[in-house]
Amino acid sequence: MAVLKKMRAMVMETAGQPLRLKELAVPHPGKGQVLIRVRACGVCRTDLHIIDGELDKPKLPLILGHEIIGTVAGMGEGVRGFHKGNRIGVPWLGSTCGTCRYCTEGSENLCEEARFTGYSIDGGYAEFTVADQRYCFHIPESYDDTAAAPLLCAGLIGYRSYRLAGEKLEKLGIYGFGAAAHIITQVAVYPEKRVYAFTRPGDTAAQEFARELGAVWAGDSTNSPPEPLDAAIIFAPVGSLVVDALRSVRKGGTVVCGGIHMSDIPSFPYKLLWEERIVRSVANLTRRDGEELLAIASRIPVKTAVELFPLEKANEALNKLRKGEVRGAAVLSIGNGSLMGGIHFACHPGTSTALSVNSSGDPL
Ligand SMILES: [Zn+2]
Ligand SMILES: [Zn+2]
Repeated sequence: MAVLKKMRAMVMETAGQPLRLKELAVPHPGKGQVLIRVRACGVCRTDLHIIDGELDKPKLPLILGHEIIGTVAGMGEGVRGFHKGNRIGVPWLGSTCGTCRYCTEGSENLCEEARFTGYSIDGGYAEFTVADQRYCFHIPESYDDTAAAPLLCAGLIGYRSYRLAGEKLEKLGIYGFGAAAHIITQVAVYPEKRVYAFTRPGDTAAQEFARELGAVWAGDSTNSPPEPLDAAIIFAPVGSLVVDALRSVRKGGTVVCGGIHMSDIPSFPYKLLWEERIVRSVANLTRRDGEELLAIASRIPVKTAVELFPLEKANEALNKLRKGEVRGAAVLSIGNGSLMGGIHFACHPGTSTALSVNSSGDPL
């Protein structure tokens, strides 16, 4: 195989410690797997939860990263659907058993034996990775590598949250305006839903960003929306927002918790849940979610705002994400040779209307 024998990777050796840059052997693709030269990998809040030990029993040592865009560099036996040189996307759902009740009932996101990219199997904070090709996606040509990366988790989980918020909703609240929110606002605004964006108190930059993307209202999470909402999605990992969101939804409205981890939900009066309000979580994704979101995203088209970091600056990207300082999504740009450190922003090539921001975070 005409590939490098060694690769650079940012490795988590134990919870609570920064990732370490290491030189590792390039993995070999097993049966049904593709070897991928990673071009971009999104940095997700879930990665912080893994590093912080809030999600237990990760594979260790671990290569994080579950929003991988790359090109197929090699193939194991039995690969169908991808060829060498194809662009490929690898999401959080790495494999399922195919036989448990959840897999057979169309809920493979809940599979008893599911394995997850960048958690139970190595992910994309590296120059190469391997993946089971059955769970990978072809990436629309209209997206360049770094612009596509956030679609693979922020987009997919956001889309599943949006789908489960209810088909008939007209007024949607979004709590936490980061990577997922900036994608789903565009998905919701396209069919003329009214989006209400709730941010950390005083985060006027995020509120302005939400309005630019089409939110009809943006304000602090401590505020009430100007009118009752049909549904709300909570992307921020803050349990008290469940109570705030319940106060903001109408009778029969739904509150969707879109994150994999959240601080404890405080007790609240039953009357907030009364009148058939629903609180639910969203776990993982199905391949159907991925196919639908990628098709919708390229049709709208959804524009992603990305802040780029070279692979070896993964810790810096994670720290900025932790502090809420990333506008849109943080993405590692890997092996492209164009990053000399510092912060870069990217948008879709060939799309004159692409969302573009400069290094001060202001819209261009
Ligand atoms: Zn299963
Ligand atoms: Zn994620």
